[in-house]
Amino acid sequence: MNLVLLGAPGAGKGTQAKRIEEAFDVVQLSTGDMLRAEAGSGSDIGQQADTLMKAGKLVPDEMIIRLIDARLDRPDCRNGFILDGFPRTLPQASALDGMLTAKGLKLDVVLSIEVDDDAMVERISGRYTCASCGEGYHDSFKKPTVEGVCDVCGHTRFTRRADDNADTVRHRLKAYHTQTEPIIAYYEGSGLVRRIDGMLGIDAVTASVMAALQAYARVD
Ligand code: AMP
Repeated sequence: MNLVLLGAPGAGKGTQAKRIEEAFDVVQLSTGDMLRAEAGSGSDIGQQADTLMKAGKLVPDEMIIRLIDARLDRPDCRNGFILDGFPRTLPQASALDGMLTAKGLKLDVVLSIEVDDDAMVERISGRYTCASCGEGYHDSFKKPTVEGVCDVCGHTRFTRRADDNADTVRHRLKAYHTQTEPIIAYYEGSGLVRRIDGMLGIDAVTASVMAALQAYARVD
């Protein structure tokens, strides 16, 4: 199953992608994670991306298209993939079509997780992750059972993304509406889009996601 996951910053794409990854044995490809890894490595690409990310702006299409094109050739994508954060512009969507055709692949479904902007500022400003296993938490909505200790791995160090502050979030939401939302109409034409209400609790959203993906469940 090859899937595109769309949704504004804070819609819960990363959280749902992890659950889809486990349920369907496919790999999550998060362009945000790839760019943060590049930024952490101090590479040229990473340095350019870091400045843009901190301002809540998108990085250039060519940069991200090259990253994804190479990533899709890795063996772990053979069973299917979840594109989380890509495509984010119409040129990226069109480049994705071209690269999938060239690789003999196709998209099965585009999930759009739909949310209200106002709620997203609060959701994003409070979120943080375990520095060891990456489990996500939130100051108001999902605290670790024992304060300061990760429920999953017991680690005690947590990180917050540099771009998860109210100002940058507003820029990221604007970029989503102007540059990414038109992609939904682009995919509507091919009948691939399934809309999900992302304002429900995490488990309720997962239930809707799994229901929408039922048709793609593997019969072993
Ligand atoms: P995310 O983790 O998906 O919220 O992405 C964080 C930041 O990485 C975005 O605000 C952009 O600056 C950058 N980014 C991630 N994916 C893309 C993409 N497909 N195109 C352009 N910029 C991206």
